Amino acid sequence: MLKILLSRVREYWKYAAITPLFMVGEVAMEVLIPTLMAYVVDAGISNTDMDVVRRVSIMLVAAAMLSLSFGMLGAWSASKASSGFAKNIRHDEYAKVMSFSFADIDRFSTPSLITRMTTDVQNVQMSFQMMIRICVRAPIMFIFAMIMVWHNGGALSLVFAVAIPVLACGIYLIFSRTHTYFTKAFKGYDVFNRVVQENLGGIRTVKAYVREDQQQAIFNDSAAVIRDNFKKGQRIMAFTSPIMMSVTFACIIALSYLGARYINIGQLQTGELLSIYTYTFQILSSLLMVGMVIVMMSISWASMQRIAEVLSSEPSMDPNPEGEKEVADGSIEFDHVSFGYGRDSVVLDDISLRIESGQMIGILGPTGSGKTTLISLIARLYDAKSGTVKVGGRDVRSYSLKALRDNVSVVLQKNTLFTGTVAENLRWGNPDASDEAIRKASDIASVTPFISSMKDGFDSHVDQGGTNFSGGQRQRLCIARALLKDPRILILDDSTSAVDTATDAQIRRALREDVQHLTKIIISQRLSSIMDADQIFMMSGGRIVDRGTHAELMERNAEYRQLYEMQEGGRKNA
Ligand code: ADP
Repeated sequence: MLKILLSRVREYWKYAAITPLFMVGEVAMEVLIPTLMAYVVDAGISNTDMDVVRRVSIMLVAAAMLSLSFGMLGAWSASKASSGFAKNIRHDEYAKVMSFSFADIDRFSTPSLITRMTTDVQNVQMSFQMMIRICVRAPIMFIFAMIMVWHNGGALSLVFAVAIPVLACGIYLIFSRTHTYFTKAFKGYDVFNRVVQENLGGIRTVKAYVREDQQQAIFNDSAAVIRDNFKKGQRIMAFTSPIMMSVTFACIIALSYLGARYINIGQLQTGELLSIYTYTFQILSSLLMVGMVIVMMSISWASMQRIAEVLSSEPSMDPNPEGEKEVADGSIEFDHVSFGYGRDSVVLDDISLRIESGQMIGILGPTGSGKTTLISLIARLYDAKSGTVKVGGRDVRSYSLKALRDNVSVVLQKNTLFTGTVAENLRWGNPDASDEAIRKASDIASVTPFISSMKDGFDSHVDQGGTNFSGGQRQRLCIARALLKDPRILILDDSTSAVDTATDAQIRRALREDVQHLTKIIISQRLSSIMDADQIFMMSGGRIVDRGTHAELMERNAEYRQLYEMQEGGRKNA
C-alpha cells in the first residue's frame, strides 16, 4: 500500500528529499544555541569578558537566523512536496475512476469515491507533510540534545532515564485513547459526505416534498458524530500539555537540585546547567512530536488504505482498444443471455432475441422487470454473466469499447446536461458536428421549436444539470445529442416520458422517416410510444414473456390488451 501511494510523489521527490536536510540544519542550530548561551554565561558574563559576550552574541544571532531560515525552507519544501503529492493522488484517482465500468462504480459507490478523493487525500497530505518534517526532525533533535546533555552534564543525563519512560507512558495513554475517537470522526466524514451529496444533488426533491426539516435533522446527526468524536478526542488531548509541562518541570527541579551540587564541587558551570534546561525541553518535546506523528499516521492509515484500494483496482471491463472498429450494421442478437448485479442476483434470465438492422423495437414491462438492464448490455455498460450479446453479427466484447459505444447511442433515464451552451452540450455527441448536422438532429428530436424561441438559440446557456430547461426539453436535447453521434443503434430508455404525446409522436415519426437506417429501441410505459414498432418485447421478472407486433399482441395477449384499453380509455376520456 505504501509503495502504491509513495510512487505518486513523482516529480515532487526533490522537495520531499530536501525537507529532511533543512530539518537537520534547523535542529543543528537549535541544539547549538543553548551551548552558545552556556558559553556566553560561563566564559563571558561570569568573567566580565565583553569581547567573548560580543563575539558569541553575534554567533547566537547568526545561529538563530539560520535556524529560522532552515525552518522556513523546510516548511516551504514540505508543503510543496505534500500538496504536489496530494495533487498527483487526486489526478491518478480521478483517471482511475474515469476508467471504471458501471459495475466498478456500483461497487465503490459514488459518495465513497468522493470521500476517497477529498477528505482521505487531505488526511494523507497532512500525515505526509508531518512525516517528512517531524520524522527526521524529532529523532535527530532527541539524539543531538541527549548527546549535548551528556557532554555538558555527564551523569545528570540519568534524570532522563526516569523522565522519558514516564512521559512515554503518558503520551501512549493519551494518544491510544484519542486515536479511537479521531478514527471514528474521520469515518463519520463518509456518511457526512453522502448526506451532503444526496441532499444537495436532490435539493429540488427535498423542497418539493417539504423535507427540509427531516433532511436537516439527518445532516445534524451526521455532523454531530464528527463533532462529538473530535470533542472527546480533543478533551483527552488537552492533557498532553499539562503532562508534558509536569514532566519538564520535574526534570528541571531534579536537575537544579543535582546540578547545584555539581556546581558546588566544580564539576559543572552555571551556563552549562542553563543549557541543560533547554535541552530538557527539546528532548521531551521531540518525544511528544513522535507521538503526534504516530497518531496522525494511524488515523490516516484507513485513508491510505481506501485510496490505495481505488488506485490498485483494475477496471473490471477491458476497453479492448485493439478490438474491431467497424460495426457492420445495426442488428442485435441475444443468445441465452443471463445477468445479475450481485454474485447471486438474477436480473436477466436466459434471454434470446434477434433484432434486424433498421427495425424499430418497443420494450414494455413493469418497473424492475429488467428493461434498462437488457439495453445496458448492448452498449456494454455491463457484461453478460453468461450467453452472448452480438451487435452487427459480432460479440460486443470483440469491439473496441469506444467503437461500440460510438455506434450504440443510449439515452438513459437519468441523462444529464452539463454547464455550457446548448450547442456545446449537443457536440458531446460529436465534437466536429457541423451546424447543419446539429440542426438536423434538433429537428428530429423536436428541439428546434423551443430553441428557436430562445433569444440566444443554440448559444443559450445551460445551467448545471440542465435545470433551466423543463424535463421534456432536457429529454429532447439528450435525444438530439445521442443522434449527433450518428450511431447505428439508438436506444431511448423512457426518454420521452416527460414529453407531451403530440411531440412524442412527432419524434417517432421523424425517427422512422429521417433515420431509417438506424435500429431504434424504445423503452416506454406509454403504449402509444411503441405501438407502431416492428416488434414489441414484453418483459416480466427478467424474462421476455411475449413478443410480436401491436396487432399480434392485441389478439393473443390479455395483459397487453388490458393495458392498451386502460391507456387508450384514459386518453379518450381525458
Ligand atoms: P426496469 O428498467 O425494468 O425498471 P431495471 O433493469 O432498472 O428494471 O432493474 C432490474 C432489477 O435490477 C431491479 O430489481 C433493480 O433493483 C436491479 N438493479 C438495477 N440497477 C442496479 C444496480 N446498479 N445495482 C444493483 N441492482 C440494480
